[in-house]
Amino acid sequence: MTKLTLVRGDITRRRVDAIVNAANSSLLGGGGVDGAIHRAGGPEILAECRALRASHHGGGLPTGRAVATTAGRLPARWVIHTVGPVYREDGGDPELLASCYRESLRVADGLGARTVAFPAISTGVYRWPMDDAARIAVETVRGARTAVEEVVFVLFDERAYEAFARQVG
Ligand code: ADP
Repeated sequence: MTKLTLVRGDITRRRVDAIVNAANSSLLGGGGVDGAIHRAGGPEILAECRALRASHHGGGLPTGRAVATTAGRLPARWVIHTVGPVYREDGGDPELLASCYRESLRVADGLGARTVAFPAISTGVYRWPMDDAARIAVETVRGARTAVEEVVFVLFDERAYEAFARQVG
């Protein structure tokens, strides 16, 4: 069974095998956690993202998928970039949000990563309601078949931390 851990703070500081980036489909960086990862990790990550775009994802990385790069100057070994679904007035597709967690763990398994840190995907600019996003995240990781030994949810503020804590119980 994969151990679940919750911490408050900045994911760029985590010394784990892989941290997950809530990227956008361009893979060329953005705001929020994406901006923080590229700022702290340096230009190497962006260069690898550009190469991935050129070789495999010319039209952008589809929502719910994940790809890995090295982690530049970050203490982690890899960054796994996944694209969360946008939550709109009429809702969002929970299966796509679940897919971000599942696909990221699948990529982590391919890398041989044993410890993986996730942010609360889609809960920033993409506006997914925090409690629902936390439920999907925790249920999906608990249900995943993976060799990852520990998943750390790194929550940026108290509201996110509390929402995840309610789900983990
Ligand atoms: P999305 O576009 O998927 O909504 P955002 O980056 O806007 O992505 O937000 C996702 C979540 O990441 C939000 O809950 C936000 O508060 C959080 N976040 C922002 N910066 C960091 C960081 N440095 N470490 C961890 N979480 C962060």
